[in-house]
Amino acid sequence: MTAQQEPSFDCGGDLPVDCAQVAVYVQSFIDGEHVSISIEALEVHLDRCAPCGLEADDFRRLKVALARRKSERSMVDLLRCCCQSILETGKL
Ligand SMILES: [Zn+2]
Repeated sequence: MTAQQEPSFDCGGDLPVDCAQVAVYVQSFIDGEHVSISIEALEVHLDRCAPCGLEADDFRRLKVALARRKSERSMVDLLRCCCQSILETGKL
């Protein structure tokens, strides 16, 4: 038997926080909100635990996508505002 290696999903062993805690706090952590566990411990975990790291990446991507959508929205608002101004006053 050569089953010396643990499966990679068993990542909680030597990490300061376990996956369950990371699952609870990862979204707040990425949003920059206060979390009641150590940020360093969370970062170490995300760095070394593939499943949690991927989940964090998903949250980051989602956050970027939402931020992009928001800025597109404000461009539309700006254009709408300019158009309204032109319609109302005949100039910008
Ligand atoms: Zn994990």
